[in-house]
Amino acid sequence: MRKKVLIVGGGIVGCMTAMELVKRGCNVTIVERNQIASQNSGESSWAGGGILLPLVPWMYSEQVNALTNNGADAYRQLCQQLLQETGIDAHFEQSGFLILPNFDGEAAQTWCANNQMPIQKVKAAAFGVYSSNGEDALWLPTVCQIRPPYLMQAMRKWLAQNNVTMLEHTELIPLQQTASLKEWATVNGEKLTADQFVVTSGAWSFELLKDTTAKLNIKPMRGQILLYKPQKNLEQIVYKEGFYMIPRRDGYLLAGSTLEDVGFDATVTEAVLDEISAKAVAIMPELKNQPIIKHWSGLRPGTPENLPTISAHPTIENLYLNTGHFRYGLTMAPASAELVANLMLGQMSTIDATPYKCV
Ligand SMILES: Cc1cc2nc3c(=O)[nH]c(=O)nc-3n(C[C@H](O)[C@H](O)[C@H](O)COP(=O)(O)OP(=O)(O)OC[C@H]3O[C@@H](n4cnc5c(N)ncnc54)[C@H](O)[C@@H]3O)c2cc1C
Repeated sequence: MRKKVLIVGGGIVGCMTAMELVKRGCNVTIVERNQIASQNSGESSWAGGGILLPLVPWMYSEQVNALTNNGADAYRQLCQQLLQETGIDAHFEQSGFLILPNFDGEAAQTWCANNQMPIQKVKAAAFGVYSSNGEDALWLPTVCQIRPPYLMQAMRKWLAQNNVTMLEHTELIPLQQTASLKEWATVNGEKLTADQFVVTSGAWSFELLKDTTAKLNIKPMRGQILLYKPQKNLEQIVYKEGFYMIPRRDGYLLAGSTLEDVGFDATVTEAVLDEISAKAVAIMPELKNQPIIKHWSGLRPGTPENLPTISAHPTIENLYLNTGHFRYGLTMAPASAELVANLMLGQMSTIDATPYKCV
């Protein structure tokens, strides 16, 4: 009989986990308290920028890079598959990544050499951006992006086509400790059963599991983004000291983001609008008179060192966790889904699961 799996949370991590388990013959249900692939207050996946690189990878551990490198590598083929099978284009683009000063050029060169990522020293002016610090910049031409709302729509359609049950507008209540999980109750009192369960509920994962022995170190970290449509757009992603601008295929330009420790508050603020637009104008002065078309936020599942938990629950035998991907969950999702599926089905992984274990 096919193994029945219930996934809690329909963001990118839940959807990718579902896809991976379907490919391995499981009977999968996703429970999502809102609607998958729509913009809902707080959820991270719709709101993300979609850069397939941990901004400055040389500042992160090997464990973070193992997931981001493998995840980013999977996207070209994954987006082709989604386009062929669903007709929805996730806007995978190799747009390249231009880094403006200040940066640690030596660390960047060493990391790129060790990770087979091309890197060049360039002049920022050649890319049509303003840089005050002597114009020297770093150019990573192979960095790619996806468009999160389109990726999510494609995933949702693919999952529907592959017989995944999506229980939307259905919220699960926090779990109580047990040795083995038979059923999980919704806020309306319905009891959902499965052979195995996976928590992929992003910033809300700590709340769901706090009455069990898994004490996850996850908290919401708000990020805000502005959307422009300049007359002449950038042709590459531009990064400067924690701030980035991402040009889209259809002429839009994203500018962001922030890292705000404000709890489960997903409102957008005037102060951040002023802060982001000032940074954007400093790099692209022509944005000064351009209207801001949209301003949104998302609550990232924040974790120390950006390290997610991908693991069996420490004491509930048929419960698994795939959560806490913080700033890079879009990039990590394919590799993270593969790893949790291997753990659930007792299969070997190329990535060592030890650093992501829940204790
Ligand atoms: C502004 C911003 C920019 C970003 N840019 C990038 C980027 O460029 N590249 C990158 O790789 N990453 C980026 N990220 C990070 C990335 O978006 C996140 O790491 C990723 O989306 C996390 O996915 P998730 O599925 O774990 O969480 P979410 O997308 O938040 O999904 C969790 C889901 O669980 C559901 N849920 C919660 N509790 C329950 C419950 N009790 N019952 C049922 N459902 C429940 C929620 O409704 C939600 O849909 C960015 C994030 C933000 C906010």
